[in-house]
Amino acid sequence: MHRLIFDEDHEMFRDATRRFMQAEAEPHVEKWREQGQCDKEVFLKAGEQGLLGMWVPEEYGGAGIGDFRFEQIVIEETVRHGDLGLFLTLHSRLVGPYIGELGSETLKKRLLPKVVSGETILGIAMTEPGAGSDVAGIKSRAVRDGDDWVINGSKTYISNGINGGAFVVAARTVPDKRHGIGLFVVEDGMQGFQRGRNLAKMGLKTQDTAELFFEDVRVPPENVLGDPEKGFYGLMHFLAEERLISACQEIAHAQVAFDLTMEYILDRKAFGKPIGAFQNSRFKMAAMRTEIDVTQTFVDQCVLLHNEGKLSAELAAEAKLKASEVESFVMDECVQLHGGAGYMSEYRISHMFTDARVSRIYAGSSEIMKEIIARGIGLDERKLSG
Ligand SMILES: Cc1cc2nc3c(=O)[nH]c(=O)nc-3n(C[C@H](O)[C@H](O)[C@H](O)COP(=O)(O)OP(=O)(O)OC[C@H]3O[C@@H](n4cnc5c(N)ncnc54)[C@H](O)[C@@H]3O)c2cc1C
Repeated sequence: MHRLIFDEDHEMFRDATRRFMQAEAEPHVEKWREQGQCDKEVFLKAGEQGLLGMWVPEEYGGAGIGDFRFEQIVIEETVRHGDLGLFLTLHSRLVGPYIGELGSETLKKRLLPKVVSGETILGIAMTEPGAGSDVAGIKSRAVRDGDDWVINGSKTYISNGINGGAFVVAARTVPDKRHGIGLFVVEDGMQGFQRGRNLAKMGLKTQDTAELFFEDVRVPPENVLGDPEKGFYGLMHFLAEERLISACQEIAHAQVAFDLTMEYILDRKAFGKPIGAFQNSRFKMAAMRTEIDVTQTFVDQCVLLHNEGKLSAELAAEAKLKASEVESFVMDECVQLHGGAGYMSEYRISHMFTDARVSRIYAGSSEIMKEIIARGIGLDERKLSG
């Protein structure tokens, strides 16, 4: 379906981004998958190409481009010619804005130019061994000591956890208040900050996911993001954009799977005809085409709303819920249409199937998305239960 949201500038940017991914990502994906993480150099190269932190104001080394459509193009070309696990956008647009919007002047001057160049890779650390969906249930503590804050605790499943050089860390600052959470930037080399191993995963093999440990990590005041007692509201604010990013990735991933499968079923023959000639295959492809087109249109509309500052948490949740469910549906059908080949690691669709499974879990699970949407339509469990 022709998409109406892009103009000539976007298309030129897409061509350049595609060429970049074909040259700097695609040839390395297999190696990255084997080693369980991408090389840091790809961030430096993406920085040189101007693909990182595009929103960062010029005074901090960026291009000052807030239009999310450019990021959407980076996402789509990364998924098509790189890999779903290459988390450039998590660095640029999921974590970067915490520093841009909530960071001190000193922090912005020091970190943002390195975010744009890819020298410092960013991550965000909310999840803990005992709290994932229930972000307000985190136990990591930050205690004020003079002007500094001292953090103790541990985090898990942190993306860019091995390659990352700076992490936005959520820690409890008010012990007896559920939402009494602060956000702090912990950087490589701070005493008491350690990372664990790169966690073995079912999919997303090009992406390093790690545990992080904090033992009396002293954080200076310039590394505190916003009001240290109101970080929970910062998280809620930025989570809408996180969900839009996920939705863009998921539907792009589904589209790539569809294209690969189309090629396969036209080429592969059974009973004297291409697999694509069977009514079952044609109907499955038709159903997938419809789901992808309808969802992409909704996601594109959310992108435009986000550009206007009008994307609500509920709409972002709807986009993420629908795109991740469509992605899973499409992956399963595409593996089936590939037959045995779909189960073999040498076929890309087999990795895409396992990569996709996380989409209904991270960045807020499908169940949490439904909670947000239900609350938005007035069905708030807490209020209804009295
Ligand atoms: C590959 C990967 C990368 C990740 N990257 C990051 C990262 O960079 N930073 C970060 O902070 N976290 C990250 N996460 C963590 C991720 O966000 C959490 O795994 C996710 O939020 C779910 O939390 P949980 O694993 O604790 O599951 P739980 O919260 O224990 O949930 C278990 C199940 O219960 C369901 N459930 C929970 N609460 C409810 C409810 N109220 N109603 C109905 N069902 C419910 C869930 O939907 C889920 O199905 C990552 C996870 C993965 C797998």
